Amino acid sequence: MQTQLHPLFKDSDHGREAEAILRSCVHCGFCTATCPTYQDLGDERDGPRGRIYLIKQLLENGEATEKTRTHLDRCLNCRSCETTCPSGVKYGRLVDLGKDIVERQQTRPLWERSLRWGVRQVLPYRHRFALLLRLGQLARPLMPEVIKAKIPLKQTHSLWPSQVHSRVMLALAGCVQPSTTPKTNAAAARVLDRLGITLLEETKAGCCGAVSYHLSKHEEGFNFMRRNIDAWWPAIEAGAEAIVMTASGCGTTVKDYGALLKFDPVYASKAARVSELAKDLSEVIAGEDLASLALRLDSVKTAVHCPCSLQHAQHLPDSVGHILDSLGVEQTPTNDKHLCCGSAGTYSIFEAEISQRLLSNKLDALSVGKPERIVTANVGCQMHLASKSKVPVQHWIEVLDEALP
Ligand code: SF4
Ligand code: SF4
Repeated sequence: MQTQLHPLFKDSDHGREAEAILRSCVHCGFCTATCPTYQDLGDERDGPRGRIYLIKQLLENGEATEKTRTHLDRCLNCRSCETTCPSGVKYGRLVDLGKDIVERQQTRPLWERSLRWGVRQVLPYRHRFALLLRLGQLARPLMPEVIKAKIPLKQTHSLWPSQVHSRVMLALAGCVQPSTTPKTNAAAARVLDRLGITLLEETKAGCCGAVSYHLSKHEEGFNFMRRNIDAWWPAIEAGAEAIVMTASGCGTTVKDYGALLKFDPVYASKAARVSELAKDLSEVIAGEDLASLALRLDSVKTAVHCPCSLQHAQHLPDSVGHILDSLGVEQTPTNDKHLCCGSAGTYSIFEAEISQRLLSNKLDALSVGKPERIVTANVGCQMHLASKSKVPVQHWIEVLDEALP
């Protein structure tokens, strides 16, 4: 797709990068068929090809309209379109660049700005989020059902193994995971411990930076990334084998640190090393001798939900399913595996109606085989699915942890 860049963007790195991505699109429209928001809203501008046209117009006219912002806001950044695209269009990167320009040109109404600011002040900060969640949990009995469902019940923290092994890996506690699903990293630590690996959480590391970055506050996001790199660096220099990501949404961002910070003269090479070391938990577990765990698995029928960040961004659509298969866990069939559950980072807050419809569709698609539990690989999807699911929703590593002898 030929694009004549407006003088505003002609000499900018971002303008040239967006132009190169646009050039790779042959506007065939294959991607439209697998876009959840196009399926939901039926408007070409709410599908990838339409959004690509809107970004092209923006780069040529140099002016963002409210319409452009609305249709880009409705994009989940699930990247299902990337998986479908025969031309390898890097849509996820393009939409980030487009959203960034729109955000700088179009002032949002005051309430939207306030809500976005509030989310950025709470979500990425572990202790602030934990405090707000605790207040919500205390007030839960007084709340209407629809809000109650969104507040996860208080979770008990489980013990980390105390053994120290020569093989060491790092884990990211992140921002919301310690208070919403604290069992996940502890379960990963226990399973890895039995495999002879010590899992360490660096307390100074926190939010991966995705919340700010995807809300078009790029520099703020970069600062979270730099802080994590600094926190991990001593352990990396001491020989940590991998940075194990138990939330695939954060994993996608950490795997991108190298690309995102490539222009940073101080952090570029460290960021690239961090990205090299970042592995989804399923990649780490798949490479180990699982027979040595002598697991005693239950016979609970299980539906696997693969988050978009794992299947479309990290290209690991079957990694969890294969592990569970190899262990003999009974998996039930599911439909529309490629479609997003509607969680998508902060999407469920800002685009609640679409998000709820996608959630209902996803739960129907996961329930066709009548599972007794659903497992997933990302804290956001886990909480979102659990808010409406009739069966328990867990992180898949808990299935292995509960089966340890
Ligand atoms: S499938 Fe790829 S090449 Fe075709 S319209 Fe979509 S993004 Fe463009
Ligand atoms: S990222 Fe997802 S929601 Fe956005 S255009 Fe692509 S398929 Fe549609």
